[in-house]
Amino acid sequence: GDGNAGAAPSTFVVNSPNVTYTDAEIKSNYTYRTTSVDTDANGNFVATPKEVLYDFKVERKVPKVGMMLVGWGGNNGTTVTAGILANRRKLVWDTKEGHQEANYYGSVVMGSTMKLGTDAKTNKEINIPFHNVLPMVHPNDLVIGGWDISSMNLAQAMDRAQVLEPALKALVKKEMAEMVPLPSIYYPDFIAANQEDRADNVLEGTQASTAHVEKLRKDIRDFKANNDLDKVIVMWTANTERYADVIPGVNDTADNLLKAIEQGHEEVSPSTVFAVASILENIPFINGSPQNTFVPGAIELAERHNAYIGGDDFKSGQTKMKSALVDFLINAGIKLTSIASYNHLGNNDGKNLSSQKQFRSKEISKSNVVDDMMPAVADNKRALDEYYAEIFLGGHQTISLFNICEDSLLASPLIIDLVVITEMMTRIQWKASGADNDYKRFHSVLSVLSYMLKAPLTPPGTPVVNALAKQRAALTNIFRACVGLEPESDMTLEHKLF
Ligand code: NAD
Repeated sequence: GDGNAGAAPSTFVVNSPNVTYTDAEIKSNYTYRTTSVDTDANGNFVATPKEVLYDFKVERKVPKVGMMLVGWGGNNGTTVTAGILANRRKLVWDTKEGHQEANYYGSVVMGSTMKLGTDAKTNKEINIPFHNVLPMVHPNDLVIGGWDISSMNLAQAMDRAQVLEPALKALVKKEMAEMVPLPSIYYPDFIAANQEDRADNVLEGTQASTAHVEKLRKDIRDFKANNDLDKVIVMWTANTERYADVIPGVNDTADNLLKAIEQGHEEVSPSTVFAVASILENIPFINGSPQNTFVPGAIELAERHNAYIGGDDFKSGQTKMKSALVDFLINAGIKLTSIASYNHLGNNDGKNLSSQKQFRSKEISKSNVVDDMMPAVADNKRALDEYYAEIFLGGHQTISLFNICEDSLLASPLIIDLVVITEMMTRIQWKASGADNDYKRFHSVLSVLSYMLKAPLTPPGTPVVNALAKQRAALTNIFRACVGLEPESDMTLEHKLF
């Protein structure tokens, strides 16, 4: 139970002198244990255990949060919206297999658990929903809005997307029909020409401008005010854009980027303009597509404004499998020598990617071999990967993996996780223990979101972690640290030493 009336509900308290609860905050004095490695005169490593003491502070009050999607009328935008409505209203609908209830499968936050500890009496493992480790927003409570270059209301757009079952669509249709995306910015050079016929909801001007930035900022402020929100998070789930050239003097620094926008430079993409508008509003911005939205100038601007950014590219089906399988092969001591991939995309995302310039973004973020045919597989993306590895004494292991998934049904829970985790990060602060300085935020670039992203953006100069298990461990263990819990350890000595 929760001993603090009035505070956000939680299903456990931590009983430790290092953790204090008030109505407003959870504070933890945390010992971060790492190993510092030196090399001695003989070239041997000397490993020295190291401890750094941090104070973490978590704001307990769960705010009212808005999620604004760029590309709201697309497959992901309509699917995540319908999915949240279905969960909020606890909908049950008929399918040919029987009744289907709304759920949040595929969301780490809503669908997975973490170990809290072992039962004091029985020594059995006690697990809690991931969602309960900190006072997180519930996705059912998100207020949803956003922009699209297509004027279709969300009910029509949901039909166009061809993702959801007719029976479910019928149940959310009325509510979805009332949702209409705000007009967006459309710079035709950045997405495929074949998208032009849907671009009937666009602001004037086909190049970046200060007016565009100001309009988007106003959209965010209005959404916040009209819905009485404490916080907003903006996410790009619009089409993949072509890469923007990074040009010295144009987008290499924050000041140059702002100047380039003012001057309407043609290398500033719509997604970068959205990022800049969000950063200037101090609103977190997440990029779910593969292009380089976060040019160096955008990252510098985020750092300057202490705004959170995260990206790039939702890691849904095939890539998630790949980073899990590679993790396994490498950790098993098997020598992976090649991966060949084939992708079969069928939805509008595939249509956009059938244009060479946009496909380059995907190519760069995935380094894949992809077929650009446009067959009738709709949202059921096909991917075939062949892993070729060298095993003992020159033998070989070939793993052929055929992955079919309804793409938007995998991406939607990722959108939810990205929003919930990002919002949580805005309520966590830290300082070095004993220091009399003020609490600080994490670095602007939220690499803690890596588990959900294909090409994780990390603070400049820091390493990218691609292994799936490590990405999840970073996320869980940072959240645990905030309530003074040790990192998840799988030693289970309690079951080995007795
Ligand atoms: P989609 O084509 O169905 O939807 C994109 C929407 O964005 C469309 O409605 C389009 O009109 C709109 N749009 C384009 N430019 C815009 C702009 N400047 N402003 C506002 N709206 C704009 O695509 P989708 O399947 O929903 O995927 C969205 C993005 O997510 C794509 O870039 C895709 O590559 C990326 N992604 C998807 C997955 C997945 O599993 N679904 C995985 C990784 C990445």
